Amino acid sequence: MTRVLILGGTAEARSLARLAAGERGLDIVSSLAGRVRAPVLPEGEVRVGGFGGAEGLREYLRDNAIDLLVDATHPFAAVMSAHAAAAAAAAGVALLHLRRPGWVAAQGDSWTRVPSLPAAAAGLRGRVFLTVGRQGVAAFAGVAGAWFLIRAIDPPDPPLPAAREILLARGPFALADEISLLREHRIDVLVTKDSGGPDTEAKLIAARELGVPVIVVDRPPLPAGGAPVVTTVDDAMAWLRGR
Ligand code: NAP
Repeated sequence: MTRVLILGGTAEARSLARLAAGERGLDIVSSLAGRVRAPVLPEGEVRVGGFGGAEGLREYLRDNAIDLLVDATHPFAAVMSAHAAAAAAAAGVALLHLRRPGWVAAQGDSWTRVPSLPAAAAGLRGRVFLTVGRQGVAAFAGVAGAWFLIRAIDPPDPPLPAAREILLARGPFALADEISLLREHRIDVLVTKDSGGPDTEAKLIAARELGVPVIVVDRPPLPAGGAPVVTTVDDAMAWLRGR
C-alpha cells in the first residue's frame, strides 16, 4: 500500500480523499488543523491538530511511513504549505500542492487588488461586507470610519471593529441570497481574500450586478520548494496514480 497524507481543510481536499479512498493500493489519511468547531470531515481516516512545525510534520511522515504528501490546504494557509515543503524535502517524501485557481475579474467588476489584509483595511469607509475568515477580522479592528457586516463560520476572536454585525454562516452561498444580503445591509464595499472556488464566488457576482466595488486580497506565494502544483482534484488524482 502507498500511504498518502492529505493536508486539508478545503472542499478539494475532501473530494480528493473521497476519490483516492476508492483507488486500490492507496491508503489515505487526511489532516485538519482543528480551527473550525464543527468541521465537515473528509471520508476515511482523519487526524486533527497541528504537527508542531515543519520538524513535527517530518517526524509524523517518518513515524507513519507516509509515501506521498498532498498539500491541499487553503490558498492562504501559507505557513502550513511552507512546513509541507520543508518537511517533505527533509523526509524525502514526494510533495504535490493542490491549489484551486484564484478568481478573475469579469466585465462590470470594480476590483482593487491589495497585497495584504492591513492594506485592505487602510482607508476603508462606508458599509463594508467583510468575508476574510474568522482569523482575518482583527486586521480591521482599528478601522474607525466604517461599519462592518462580518461573515464567518465561527465567531471571530477579539479585537473586532467597534461598529459591526456578525453573521455566522458556512458556504456554499446562492447568488439570490447574496444579492439580498448586500441590498438589505446597504453594502458599499465588499472585502474578500482571493480564495477562489465556486462555493463563495456568488458574492462577487452579486457585487458586480449591484455595482458594488470589491477589495481583493492577493494570495501569498507558494513555497519555493519546486514541488509540482495542480489546480484540480482530477489532476491531483492523476499525480497519485502516476507515483
Ligand atoms: P496556516 O496559518 O498556514 O498554519 C498555521 C498552523 O496551523 C500550521 O503551522 C499547523 O500547525 C496548523 N495547520 C494548518 N493546516 C493544517 C492541517 N491541514 N493539518 C494540521 N495542522 C495544520 O493555516 P491557517 O491559515 O490557520 O489555516 C488552518 C486550516 O484552515 C488549514 O487546514 C486550511 O486549509 C484551512 N482554511 C484556511 C483558510 C484561510 O483563509 N487561511 C480558509 C479556509 C480553510 P503546526 O505548525 O503545529 O503543524
